Amino acid sequence: MKIICIGRNYHAHIKELGNTVPAEPVFFIKPDTALLIRNRPFYYPDFSQDIHYEVELVLKICKVGKNIQPRFASSYYNEIGLGIDFTARDIQDRSKKAGLPWFTAKGFDQSAPVSPCLPKDNFPDLKNITFSLRLNGVQVQQGNTSLMIYPFDEIISHASRFVTLRTGDLIFTGTPAGVGPVKIGDLLEGYIGETLMLKCTIK
Ligand code: MG
Repeated sequence: MKIICIGRNYHAHIKELGNTVPAEPVFFIKPDTALLIRNRPFYYPDFSQDIHYEVELVLKICKVGKNIQPRFASSYYNEIGLGIDFTARDIQDRSKKAGLPWFTAKGFDQSAPVSPCLPKDNFPDLKNITFSLRLNGVQVQQGNTSLMIYPFDEIISHASRFVTLRTGDLIFTGTPAGVGPVKIGDLLEGYIGETLMLKCTIK
């Protein structure tokens, strides 16, 4: 499986990092070795001094698809979960300045904690899903799908122009404002609505 992520999908987050609104979606990939499940701890890697959390809703792909039209995209995912797109912000900033790819800033081991997924049918309105992240008990991020620049169906459609989607692939749909650094000993807790979906201790 692969993990496809969209960057810059919420205006307030684009602003906080001093980026510009993209003319089309910005995608990157994390390998399957990035996946961190069952609330396992995240071990702070030695190659970065500035690991940031980014809480994101995650779609689970349920059938193979290529060149999917937006109007058919909703049938290609059947579950929604919550994930953290851990980012080595220091490496990413250096890469951006040098015009180089983001791979090592985004694709490293354990950089994608993901919760168990919920059936899509649990959500009465996919365009109004609230999600949030607490750091040591204090809310640091809150998002709502109504604020996405590219909604779920457009993300799937755009990504599938370039990459065939397969059953079990995960799509990270972008982070709202409030990203920030973690340190050893921190506890991250991710929520969809009022439901605790994900815990991650930094070790
Ligand atoms: Mg992200």
